[in-house]
Amino acid sequence: MTTLTGVWAETVGQAHAVGPLRAAIDDPSAMTHAWLITGPPGSGRSNAARAFAAALQCERGGCGECRECTTALAGTHADVKVVATEKVTIAISEVRELITLAQSTPSQGRWRVIIVEDADRMAERTSNVLLKSIEEPPPRTVWLLCAPSPQDVAVTIRSRCRIVPLRTPDPEDVARLLETRDGIAPDLALECARAAQSHIGVARRLARDPEARARRAQVLALATEIRGVGDAILAAADLVEVADADAKAATEERDAAEKVALMQTLGVEEGARVAPALRAQLRQLEEDQKRRATRHKRDVLDRAITDLMSLYRDVAVAQTGATVTLVNTAHDGHIRDLAARTALADTMRCLDALGTARERLAGNVAPLLALEAMMLDLRPRG
Ligand SMILES: [Zn+2]
Repeated sequence: MTTLTGVWAETVGQAHAVGPLRAAIDDPSAMTHAWLITGPPGSGRSNAARAFAAALQCERGGCGECRECTTALAGTHADVKVVATEKVTIAISEVRELITLAQSTPSQGRWRVIIVEDADRMAERTSNVLLKSIEEPPPRTVWLLCAPSPQDVAVTIRSRCRIVPLRTPDPEDVARLLETRDGIAPDLALECARAAQSHIGVARRLARDPEARARRAQVLALATEIRGVGDAILAAADLVEVADADAKAATEERDAAEKVALMQTLGVEEGARVAPALRAQLRQLEEDQKRRATRHKRDVLDRAITDLMSLYRDVAVAQTGATVTLVNTAHDGHIRDLAARTALADTMRCLDALGTARERLAGNVAPLLALEAMMLDLRPRG
């Protein structure tokens, strides 16, 4: 295994993808002005993009220690713009602003870098606007687009980008990162890396937050405790409640801080009435925050269903007697119990039900409805 150092230290398990990026830093003739970094959620797309941005700005090619490196990694470098949308789509007006920015020369750094974390969240019309800038970029501008797969980005865009495919890192790689960077004990690090199925962000959250681990355990317990229709309906409501609590915990503090910052910008003193002329801006912020909370809640539910899928896959592993490491090692007893009292066909039916629920949620079906249908399907058939 190659140990990555400097700004690349956190791109675990991605040595194959990092190679071309480093080559472009070392040899200017290998440089391209548009890159598309692809990989499944949690594989570290945004990490890799920031590391590359830092390496571009750093005089030593990405030492990881200088001001250029640390600010680029933190997303605060003046010449590294990071667009992380929490909305469903990136607005055309946002992309127009980026294009204007792309035309300007870097203020202090060596490059003007623009990172678009969810390049797949762009309507075709918006992509076309972006295309022109990617086709003829100013000499010091670099676009770094991130998406789950090349197919998620308009073909016109991706054909002009160099594609850097990340893969899902091994749980062992993620665990090592949690140990070295976050100081997590080895056993817990590996348990969380497996439970998160190598999603780096989720693994870190589980490892650092006992409540997050408790919520996950609660989700896994919900499904297996269902006996009848009543249980199923209650379980669905509980799951939505857990998602609400999670969304609240994740957004509340940030929402309040944003409001304070906006009030200061507008020159409104704490507790004072907001002048009617300024109310529109406050309303806009509140709407953005509401949208963000909605998306977060859907992400939490999607993650919960993914967790349940991992549980039933573990049950299937136990039922077929395969010698594969379980994802949910901490719930071993639970899994064996479920494997013993159901048949493989039941497990497969449950996996189908979970897959359908995910599709429904993605298709904007009301969460409670999608989950009730799912929970009813998870009931044991006798
Ligand atoms: Zn540096």
